[in-house]
Amino acid sequence: MTETIKDLIEVTKTKTSKIKNVDFDNLSFGSTFSDHMLVCDYENGEWSVPKIMPYQAISLEPSSKIFHYGQSVFEGLKAYKDAQGDVFLFRPEDNCKRLNISSKRMAIPELPEAYFMEGLKKLLEVDRDWIPSKEGSSLYIRPFIFATGKGFHASPATSYKFIIATAPSGAYFAGKVKVLIEETYSRSANGGVGFAKAGGNYAGQFYPTQLAVKKGYNQVIWTDDTSHEYIEEAGAMNIFVRINDTLMTAPVSDRILDGITRKSIIQIAKDEGFKVEERKISVNELVEAAKNGSLKEMFGAGTAAVVSPISTFGFRDKDYDLPELENTYASKLKKRITDIQTNNASDPFGWRIKV
Ligand SMILES: *Cc1c(COP(=O)(O)O)cnc(C)c1O
Repeated sequence: MTETIKDLIEVTKTKTSKIKNVDFDNLSFGSTFSDHMLVCDYENGEWSVPKIMPYQAISLEPSSKIFHYGQSVFEGLKAYKDAQGDVFLFRPEDNCKRLNISSKRMAIPELPEAYFMEGLKKLLEVDRDWIPSKEGSSLYIRPFIFATGKGFHASPATSYKFIIATAPSGAYFAGKVKVLIEETYSRSANGGVGFAKAGGNYAGQFYPTQLAVKKGYNQVIWTDDTSHEYIEEAGAMNIFVRINDTLMTAPVSDRILDGITRKSIIQIAKDEGFKVEERKISVNELVEAAKNGSLKEMFGAGTAAVVSPISTFGFRDKDYDLPELENTYASKLKKRITDIQTNNASDPFGWRIKV
């Protein structure tokens, strides 16, 4: 048998597993970390074969470029365990491809797909007991790359680290989300880095979001940077709007992140026979629809919460409440996507892979 990348990955297991201290029935989101992590270094023009080692602190020099120039990208996906103990991933190749798309924009060298995919599978084998099986729970997986290269010179680093760390997580209950349509600050701009999952995109969102929170909202709805007339994303999630029976979402561009949940929802909605439009959605249209009662639903879509329904949106000091409906598109779509992810339903799209 030929040796695969997976066979080459060296594993150093922890001598002091933390798993006995974890209450798997009461997990929060992303704050308990599994025993192991995958680490892969880029030096002298190439990525080394990944290694699996105990989850631990890493040491970096103060001049490491990540601290000064923010060269860092990340991904987020989940592993699910069904009642039989089988483990599944949802469209992980798409995360790998997107990581490299983000990296390219941040001048970070491309990571071989096999290091990501085989490395992740092996890490899940090692930490298989950390994958929760309780309904709504999953193992949140955070792959990321950052510049370790040294020097205050403002240029791309010549060395990087790719790490995958994981966190067993409970259901992400966002509750009722009140959002504020943002007209002053922008998350992204034409020609910018909005389509990349770059760490700095988040840093830039925190302050405007803090201002919205002070006004009593949970989250910001980003509008386009030129006119602020069109809605683009809901915080760090893609945005969906239902007017009458049409489901709409903003088209992806260099300002909008191409979410895997977003594109899966579009496909499922079409499969359900819903009318779906990918088009610009103006704030005016939203306000008019709210006033005349045709605005039925708004929700954010992303891996962490899957679907996060919005109860109210604020625009220019006025709040518009969404109706409380039963059998929403949001709940129907969330159930279908979650059933596919967790092996509770057939997967006609071929998205689920067994690990
Ligand atoms: C990660 C992310 C999303 C959601 O992407 P998924 O692949 O569905 O998790 C949406 N918008 C932004 C800005 C993001 O960073």
